[in-house]
Amino acid sequence: MSSYFIKTGRLFTPVRKYAWLFTLLVGIGGLWYPRLGLLVIPVMLSLVIMAFFRGRYWCGNFCAHGSLFDSLLPLSRNSKIPAFFKAKIVVGGFFLWFTFNLTRKFIRVWSLSGTGAFWDRLGMIFVSSYLMVIIAGVLLSLFVTPRTWCNFCPMGVLQRLSSKLGKLLGVARKTDVKVSITSSKLCHKCGKCARVCPMQLLPYAEFPEHNQFTAENCIKCATCVENCPAGILYIGPEQEAAAKSARTDESGADGRRRITARVAAVKELKPDVREYTFQFLEPEKISYKPGQFLLLKIQDNPEMFRAYTISSYCTDGRSAGIIVKKVKDGYGTEMIFNNVKAGDVVELEGPLGNSLQVDKKAARLLFVANGIGITPFIPLVYDVLEKGSAARDVTLVYGVRHENDFIYDEYFRELAAKHPRFRYLKVVSRPEDPQVRKGYVTNVVEELALTGYKTYICGSKAMTADMLQVLRKLGYDEEDIFYEAV
Ligand SMILES: Cc1cc2nc3c(=O)[nH]c(=O)nc-3n(C[C@H](O)[C@H](O)[C@H](O)COP(=O)(O)OP(=O)(O)OC[C@H]3O[C@@H](n4cnc5c(N)ncnc54)[C@H](O)[C@@H]3O)c2cc1C
Ligand code: SF4
Ligand code: SF4
Repeated sequence: MSSYFIKTGRLFTPVRKYAWLFTLLVGIGGLWYPRLGLLVIPVMLSLVIMAFFRGRYWCGNFCAHGSLFDSLLPLSRNSKIPAFFKAKIVVGGFFLWFTFNLTRKFIRVWSLSGTGAFWDRLGMIFVSSYLMVIIAGVLLSLFVTPRTWCNFCPMGVLQRLSSKLGKLLGVARKTDVKVSITSSKLCHKCGKCARVCPMQLLPYAEFPEHNQFTAENCIKCATCVENCPAGILYIGPEQEAAAKSARTDESGADGRRRITARVAAVKELKPDVREYTFQFLEPEKISYKPGQFLLLKIQDNPEMFRAYTISSYCTDGRSAGIIVKKVKDGYGTEMIFNNVKAGDVVELEGPLGNSLQVDKKAARLLFVANGIGITPFIPLVYDVLEKGSAARDVTLVYGVRHENDFIYDEYFRELAAKHPRFRYLKVVSRPEDPQVRKGYVTNVVEELALTGYKTYICGSKAMTADMLQVLRKLGYDEEDIFYEAV
């Protein structure tokens, strides 16, 4: 059973990776040397001051407890945070109880001021509260999700109050940074930003109205930014947001619109790969180009889509095909494989994308795909070979894991037989047959020293990154490389 929330790395910086050591030093080391607890005083001052300028930035980037909780993500159930922990009455009530208790303890210890025991007793107040947070926060991290505690943490509330003051005085407007979107037109509405968010917020739901995410509980951890497949998120100040949006090239979304379609056919290409053909109902005709993709709606609340490259060539504009590979533990592909049947009416958005718009004037074209990244090349290769292009050499390098993972193999072989200018090179990373060429697409491009091509890459993020390195090593100019990670 696939889960909605995705476990993904959040410890991007050395501070986030190792700050948990501080928590253990104070919370556990302090039991033997209570004065370690005094280190918490500058920490509290720092977080309150930082919040005045930048909201809960501390929580996502410097908090030692947060670092400890995030380190436990691999062991966590990573389930939904119960509404109880977010309820205003619980958050406010816990804050008041915590503050009252702390003040009571301070007053009691104050009577010892001037004695040798004062600093030890004062430090012990912080040590015990650190230890309490470690125990409660770790349990919540394991049995719910790592940042459950952060939803009602008194330090979080203190930061929210300080942040409100910063905003009220007009200071934070200049200094605060927020999760921002370059263009909501380019958003896939895939919800990945929400699925990886440690605070389980819904940034993408706010973007159609604002280009900045204003939730007070956003800890500005940038996990959403790192994981957005469209690469349209960043963390920045308000002043920059409008200018950045104005500079964004939105041409890839020019034709984007809502589409109602009927599933005309579902064909099983492999046990885990299906081809879906849609017949457009409203509007009846859509013009799309090879290399573009559609968004298929998978659920309503919150509204969520999945992006799929159009695998068909646009003839009369009345239909389009996509090929979906079932992903292990994939939330969307499980829904699509279980629920989308021939005859169903589905909602789509698109067409979108201009990263794989091929330069038909180029003399040499190199297409590189691994796994399901082959889909855009089905119409693209057809387009350049059959519909006219200046290319004298069209080379497709297609890599898969096992021999029987190739799809549309017959189709590409037929095109290669028909067009001498088309080279179809296959490679398998884990072949069973020793006769089969073993390796990765990067090996093929490197070994054959395929230079001087306009190159279009589609496939996994890892392959795309490796391929870019190989091409740079071979002396390619950046303007000759185009890619889309799936
Ligand atoms: C422009 C574009 C074009 C695309 N074209 C195609 C295409 O033609 N065909 C195609 O099949 N796909 C395509 N994709 C990918 C597609 O959009 C989906 O991302 C893909 O189908 C997986 O969706 P999912 O919801 O099943 O996976 P998700 O649930 O989003 O999972 C994504 C990844 O996260 C992992 N994961 C999920 N849950 C967890 C968890 N709890 N803990 C840890 N890891 C987890 C999964 O194993 C998987 O590796 C394209 C993507 C883009 C951006
Ligand atoms: S992660 Fe998906 S939904 Fe969120 S901003 Fe990026 S494309 Fe849009
Ligand atoms: S919205 Fe983004 S930056 Fe804010 S808490 Fe969630 S993942 Fe972190």
